[in-house]
Amino acid sequence: MTGTGAGAETGAGAGTGAGPLLRVADLHPACRTLGPGSRFVVWVQGCPLNCRGCVSPQWIPANGGTPMAVSALAERIAAEAADGLTLSGGEPFAQAGRLASLVDAVRARRDLSVMSYTGWTLEHLRAHGTPAQRGLLDRLDLLVDGPYVRGRHGDLRWRGSANQRVHHLTERHRGLDAEPDTGAGLQIDLGPGPTVRWAGVPRTPDFRVAFEAALGLTPPAVDGPSTEGDG
Ligand code: SF4
Repeated sequence: MTGTGAGAETGAGAGTGAGPLLRVADLHPACRTLGPGSRFVVWVQGCPLNCRGCVSPQWIPANGGTPMAVSALAERIAAEAADGLTLSGGEPFAQAGRLASLVDAVRARRDLSVMSYTGWTLEHLRAHGTPAQRGLLDRLDLLVDGPYVRGRHGDLRWRGSANQRVHHLTERHRGLDAEPDTGAGLQIDLGPGPTVRWAGVPRTPDFRVAFEAALGLTPPAVDGPSTEGDG
């Protein structure tokens, strides 16, 4: 992971009368493999880190995805999330201000657990992050930090390589430390139409390519990332 600067906010901009807009790559209303319990997952669009081996290179461009009003998304999350909210991407801390607003709007409705991934380290964000990035840190219960490093791939809980760490930023999930640090597996969802999707951290490197080849799918063409890592 290259983390030379925490960077300015990127994405959809200030929005319209509906309030700030978040640039979203994908959503999952009930994921059991990216954090404790059943969680609403927001994958944001856009990542400035451009790592080699990125599992979702189509989510690297900052101008892709779908702009969504923070207020409407918060309402949906509060209505659907069972146990918590997980922020992934893309790079959540590239849209930190809007995600902090999202967390506040969700928690105004329900006190949900909030977890985020980032390709930067916690130390880097604390020392060099913008006020918005430090503000998002202040709202998290759990942070999984650091880049995915293919050579250190491991079957670990919620993360793909041994350099990545799970930080408890509050005491909400402290009891999980007593449980084995093993992978949470993958969640496969079928339909409603002739579709299949997976969510989670694969047990083996290059899972996505092998999975799509096994299904006879051709991954979308994207520019090759330039450095190694993962958020
Ligand atoms: S692996 Fe993670 S940090 Fe790296 S480019 Fe992809 S989304 Fe960004």
